[in-house]
Amino acid sequence: MRVLVTNDDGIHAKGIEVLAKSLGRIAEVTVVAPEIERSAVGHGITLNNPLRVDKVYKSQKFFGYAVNGTPADCVKISVGAIMEHKPDVVFSGINNGANTGTDAIYSGTVSAAIEGAMVDICSVAISVSRVGGSRFDYAGEYVLKLIETLAEKGFPKLLLNVNIPSIPADEIKGVRLTRQGRVRFRDYFDKRQDPSGRTYYWLTGELTDSEEGTDIDSTAVKEGYVSITPIHYDLTDEKLLEQLRDWNFEK
Ligand code: MN
Repeated sequence: MRVLVTNDDGIHAKGIEVLAKSLGRIAEVTVVAPEIERSAVGHGITLNNPLRVDKVYKSQKFFGYAVNGTPADCVKISVGAIMEHKPDVVFSGINNGANTGTDAIYSGTVSAAIEGAMVDICSVAISVSRVGGSRFDYAGEYVLKLIETLAEKGFPKLLLNVNIPSIPADEIKGVRLTRQGRVRFRDYFDKRQDPSGRTYYWLTGELTDSEEGTDIDSTAVKEGYVSITPIHYDLTDEKLLEQLRDWNFEK
């Protein structure tokens, strides 16, 4: 089986190395990732600049291709130009930091997986929680179980957002199928001055409200479970669509 491995933390991040190494034990892995960290770039793509692809070696061995673009660019260029054959599955990660709740909207990790799904490839975003110190060991093992399940099912067209707690493997309680939780942040702009006296702002924020429940992604991770959320990128609000049929937009 052929696997495309990408991420948004950049080709030099630890998580992508763990992921590529682990999947490399059982699959033909091609690594294509941004040359630098591109976290929180969402689904941006590069249209007005050339994309350059450079070979990256780690310990004198070919590791993968670094692209001066976004995570979504990486999947596009892999399928469109780098890989000879379409991959059976796209794995994006292992991201340093959970992508639960609305984080998934901003996430380059999730967007790379979405890009895979958009060209009908079975796609998985995988992240580990920073709470507990970003442990990649269990996630690296778990991807082997996950890909086995996907292979058994024949790599169907699906899109999964997987989040893993950063706890020792023997403390993982199991796997929960979850939904994306509703989360609210209060944005706070730290106002500062640069050396020439010009004002600049730095976005920080705090979590003010996070939906809780056994079927919520962030709750599952907090309680020691691997969280698997099936997601889609069709943004249509079906319920509202029905309600709006009774409104008069013509007047
Ligand atoms: Mn990231």
